[in-house]
Amino acid sequence: MHLVPTHDEVVDLLRRTGGLRTGHFEYTNGLHADEYLQVALTMRYYDAAKVLSVGLSRQLRANPEIRAMIPELSIVAPATGGLPVAYGVCEALRAHQVYWGERENVNDPQHFRQYLELKKGEKVLLVDDILRTGKKLAELKKLVEANGGEVVGLAVVIYQPNPTTPSFDPLPFHYLAKLSASYYQDSGSCDLCKKGVPVDKVFV
Ligand SMILES: [Zn+2]
Repeated sequence: MHLVPTHDEVVDLLRRTGGLRTGHFEYTNGLHADEYLQVALTMRYYDAAKVLSVGLSRQLRANPEIRAMIPELSIVAPATGGLPVAYGVCEALRAHQVYWGERENVNDPQHFRQYLELKKGEKVLLVDDILRTGKKLAELKKLVEANGGEVVGLAVVIYQPNPTTPSFDPLPFHYLAKLSASYYQDSGSCDLCKKGVPVDKVFV
């Protein structure tokens, strides 16, 4: 394994730990896909979590602008999937602090814990395990900005965009591996449905 694991090493690690699954999946938004990624299943193993978060932190440290900010950098994640990534990256970078956005119910907006106050212009790196729809990180970015912080970049273990994933340009965006599933807009256009392959409904 390289210090920054290669794309193939990341994929192999995900497959060995149950985080990347091949089959026929239906997402809650109706998209069908031939692969399903659940990085939390990989992050349950401490050694795997360490490999991924240290690899990501090495990429971040290689970015001169981010490297210069490390002593004052806040690592901020959406709960709960981003938490092991946030702590791993913060530990490896020796960044300033970690906190997270959370919600009581699925449809509630994200919020920070009571008494958590950002410094004006606080430098924030957003991290998560996966960037797929981009909705959670876009919402968290707005929350940071509404509280006076400045988002200086994004870092995720896996980038798996779908046809509607927004771009966060011009912010620096780091990821260890980009995965492309074959997405189908609905069951009517899905080759796997046409072949009669049984479908698994997935919830995130
Ligand atoms: Zn299908």
